[in-house]
Amino acid sequence: MDCKLNTIVIYTKTNLLIKQVWKETCREILGANYRGEITSGMDGTHDEESGHYHGRALDFKKDMPEDFWEPLRKRAQGKLNKLKKGKYLVLVERTHFHIQRQKNSF
Ligand SMILES: [Zn+2]
Repeated sequence: MDCKLNTIVIYTKTNLLIKQVWKETCREILGANYRGEITSGMDGTHDEESGHYHGRALDFKKDMPEDFWEPLRKRAQGKLNKLKKGKYLVLVERTHFHIQRQKNSF
């Protein structure tokens, strides 16, 4: 899974995990040919409290039909819930998917 041009991503353990889980989820639901893309890491404008500025949040392209949004969100959330390495949140935003590890959650 590549990054959008000019995206700044810091590969903390958390971000690597988020990327891995999203990649797996997309493969399972959309098939092995789905490429996907990271659309934001540290860059962009986010909430001050956002995990983006702390290496614990990534945004992903929302380029599949709407019917897939919720199944993707649910499956990724389910996988992250099973990890027990912190609390994660998967959101379907207007223009992208947002995944982050919650603050102070290990
Ligand atoms: Zn985000």
